Amino acid sequence: MTGILLRLGSRDVLAPDSREQVAAHARIAPDSVIEIGDLAKRAFEKDTRALAEMFARDREYVIGCSRPRAAQALLDYAGVDVRALRIIWLPLPFDREALQGGYGMPWFPVIDRARCSGCGVCADYCLFAVYAVERALPPGQKIRVVKPQYCKVGCPACARLCPTGALIFPFCHEPALNGEIPDPQPRSTEDAFAALGDDPMRVLAERQNRQRLIDPSKFEHAEQDRITFSGVL
Ligand code: SF4
Ligand code: SF4
Repeated sequence: MTGILLRLGSRDVLAPDSREQVAAHARIAPDSVIEIGDLAKRAFEKDTRALAEMFARDREYVIGCSRPRAAQALLDYAGVDVRALRIIWLPLPFDREALQGGYGMPWFPVIDRARCSGCGVCADYCLFAVYAVERALPPGQKIRVVKPQYCKVGCPACARLCPTGALIFPFCHEPALNGEIPDPQPRSTEDAFAALGDDPMRVLAERQNRQRLIDPSKFEHAEQDRITFSGVL
């Protein structure tokens, strides 16, 4: 059994006795607990070799961290197949106020694969091509975060819209969005959209959707008429 103390990032401030808590659950000495820091930064920068080696050394782990859903989604994003391992997740007390002062970096979404239905609302809504859709894959694998660097800091609009609560921003101060709530309640897309109010992303997305609804063949027809009748009057 390997014991890991995992920090999501610099704003992830854990209780001082966290190492001892992990050691007790893994039944190992506190000195043997391995620390992983800045998980989000490693995942964002694809600095994942050390992570891959760490998770190749054993089949059973106790992982202590502030928000296990966020940690799982970040590890998934970093290419660690957490479902193939036997992991006991230990939620540890953390300092909520450390999340309040500004936005934690790197700021980008990760996906709770067990909850994602593959509906595509997030990919349709985001105007910045953060997501890609792989239609041939099973529902929970369809959506991928491909351009995390394009995500707008402080705009978790797609996570508010996700009907299953599958999108996580690990450094958002809202428990509903940062992976703190283990079992978020489903929400209707209409309600979530209404709750966004005058969010600029919503206004832009509505404009984009309206354009999608216009039949492109009508534009072609109009253009043809313009050419045909130009100079007639
Ligand atoms: S909106 Fe949520 S459930 Fe739908 S595809 Fe995106 S992450 Fe998955
Ligand atoms: S938070 Fe905003 S910019 Fe980032 S992925 Fe979601 S909708 Fe796109």
